[in-house]
Amino acid sequence: MRRLLLALFAGCLLGSVTPSQSNSPAVATLIVIRAGSLIDGASDAPRKNQLIFVRGKRIEKIADPSAAIPAGATIIDLSSSTVLPGLIDSHTHIFLWGEDPAKGGYDVNILKAGIALRAARATFAVRRALEQGFTTLRDVETEGAGYGDVEIKEAIAEGTIPGPRLFVVTRAISSTGGYNLEGYAPELAMPKGAQIIDGPVEARKAAREQLEHGADWIKVYMTHRSWVDKQGNLVSQPTLTVEELKAIVDEAHGWGKKVACHAYNGIGMQRALDGGCDSIEHGLEITDAQMAQMLRQGTWYCPTLSPYYDDWAPAGTPDGKRDRARAAVHEITFRKALQAHLKIVYGTDMGGMPWTEPLAQEFRRLVGLGMPPMDAIQSATSRAADMLEMKGEIGVIAPGAFADIVAVKGDPLKDVTELEHVRFVMHDGSIFKNELAK
Ligand SMILES: [Zn+2]
Repeated sequence: MRRLLLALFAGCLLGSVTPSQSNSPAVATLIVIRAGSLIDGASDAPRKNQLIFVRGKRIEKIADPSAAIPAGATIIDLSSSTVLPGLIDSHTHIFLWGEDPAKGGYDVNILKAGIALRAARATFAVRRALEQGFTTLRDVETEGAGYGDVEIKEAIAEGTIPGPRLFVVTRAISSTGGYNLEGYAPELAMPKGAQIIDGPVEARKAAREQLEHGADWIKVYMTHRSWVDKQGNLVSQPTLTVEELKAIVDEAHGWGKKVACHAYNGIGMQRALDGGCDSIEHGLEITDAQMAQMLRQGTWYCPTLSPYYDDWAPAGTPDGKRDRARAAVHEITFRKALQAHLKIVYGTDMGGMPWTEPLAQEFRRLVGLGMPPMDAIQSATSRAADMLEMKGEIGVIAPGAFADIVAVKGDPLKDVTELEHVRFVMHDGSIFKNELAK
């Protein structure tokens, strides 16, 4: 209520500006960006030589270069660059610091790092994301760091640390036998990277707890281990039952929130769809019938291709066979998903890979497997915004949207790896990085 009154008050001030008041601190200065080429995140083609008017946190208007620029406006010249909306990564883990087996794998994240070290690493991660032009993340689980994501989000919102807009899921949910840490002596009660539930009552309770403590989305594991069977097929162990998942989905939807489901293939994938998941994460192997079900239900697909090419176990070993099978079926599924026009969003699983790697590396994978560059860009802009129920507010350069604006030197439609070198970043109307213009 107080926020509403403040907004109304600010609105009155803005609406009643006279020249004598134009230096009033309540009126944000106008910034005008000259965009050499504008990829607005929603249109099918770029536009040349556009002016983007930014006032405060929002984009006021887009105009042709002949438009009058009011005196006193700050001009940012990006006329030899390509300007795009701030990018959106829909699958990250800011609290994860890589899973390289040579460095102790997943387990050291929990066993060797206390909460302060993990918070410091998350602070590094969100800054990394922002400086690479990712102005929004859907961060899908803290991996044993509790509700730390809610607090990192708060630290960003209050201006204590720089970082993107965050959508957080907090602890995530799996079942007994369905998440790390595992493989230790059975007498030891090991901490788990996710909240473990068994039965629909516990499932609903976990969702309620997570929503109470600030989850924007709920994340659920529908498969866990995977291996290659005697026929050479990839098999994944299912985790939650349909009844458990339905309790979570029902609860989350009641709060107006959505459910992201980690699902590789098989029984767990089918349960994810039958239970009403809103987004399938990874989706290594999706059958034609399951794709048809996703289209009917409006399910989003976040493939995260890149991590499945990292850290392969030696060929010929069971884990090595599994790692190669995962990448092989994923490629086939992704190509079919393109053909079927599934709603694909950009996700890296960064954190599973070290945060020192480029977040934009997934673009190479997407385009390499046949996704047109403009489609890949939209998967990381307007389409992701749609999934996050922020359509028109983020992932687009249009009047009324938040001024999340990035720029690269070259043309990402010709060479999508240009997006690995973002030179200008504006977030919420503030310039965070500028290597291009005076
Ligand atoms: Zn993940």
